[in-house]
Amino acid sequence: MDYKQFITLVEDWPKEGVQFKDITTLMDNGVAYKSAVDEIVQYAKDRQVDIIVGPEARGFIVGCPVAYALEIGFAPVRKEGKLPREVIKVDYGLEYGKDVLTIHKDAIKPGQRVLITDDLLATGGTIEATIKLVEELGGVVVGCAFLIELSYLNGRDKLEGYDVLTLMEYN
Ligand code: AMP
Repeated sequence: MDYKQFITLVEDWPKEGVQFKDITTLMDNGVAYKSAVDEIVQYAKDRQVDIIVGPEARGFIVGCPVAYALEIGFAPVRKEGKLPREVIKVDYGLEYGKDVLTIHKDAIKPGQRVLITDDLLATGGTIEATIKLVEELGGVVVGCAFLIELSYLNGRDKLEGYDVLTLMEYN
């Protein structure tokens, strides 16, 4: 399916010079959303994934329906102070300053095969940080799946050695 027709391009949001890729208009379309999820379900099946991990908030939108379809678990990665029990943390760089991502310490069992999901791969910083959390808990990252890749930001360079699926690419 040509998913790009369902993405709305919003100029200068959240700040000047950024073209925001709005996936809510893809989610609005039940057929397109299901088709995108189904592609990632097949990718996860091929890799015998045990659990899905996604960063807030749009990683949930992509990952949770895949977990539901496969009857496997989903573990949320969240900003600091959002998860209620013991967590491990990782610092990651943002354009200005840094932020912290966390995951519950018992979210993944050592040796579990993990698929990481998010809506969009830009610089790769978010996914690199998520991979660190998963690996610190002993998970094995067998794939990373995104709806969109901004290939001009070279996020894949940070994911060398990992298998990556993206359904749309913007150059
Ligand atoms: P990065 O860590 O640079 O790969 O950024 C990835 C995260 O930022 C994703 O979770 C996206 O939701 C968000 N993001 C970055 N750039 C854009 C963009 N142009 N349009 C929509 N979301 C974006």
